[in-house]
Amino acid sequence: MGKVPDTSGNMARCICGGCPSYPAEGGLFCAKGKSAKDIAKRGCLCGDCPNYKDFGLADSYYCAAGVAG
Ligand code: SF4
Ligand code: SF4
Repeated sequence: MGKVPDTSGNMARCICGGCPSYPAEGGLFCAKGKSAKDIAKRGCLCGDCPNYKDFGLADSYYCAAGVAG
């Protein structure tokens, strides 16, 4: 079980879509798990996301690493 609930409300707050590393589909990777795409790491916006603060996250690149545990 990850730290972030997989809810539509949390999906709506995810800012992955504006990220330079965004894999063109999906989001809320901290809850849903990593992308099926290969991630070119060009920066990660997670630290600016309201979910990041509210759920006490500390890492980045959840699209590549998977669920925040
Ligand atoms: S912490 Fe990152 S992956 Fe999780 S909702 Fe925010 S921007 Fe998306
Ligand atoms: S998890 Fe981080 S690196 Fe991946 S798309 Fe979201 S903000 Fe960008």
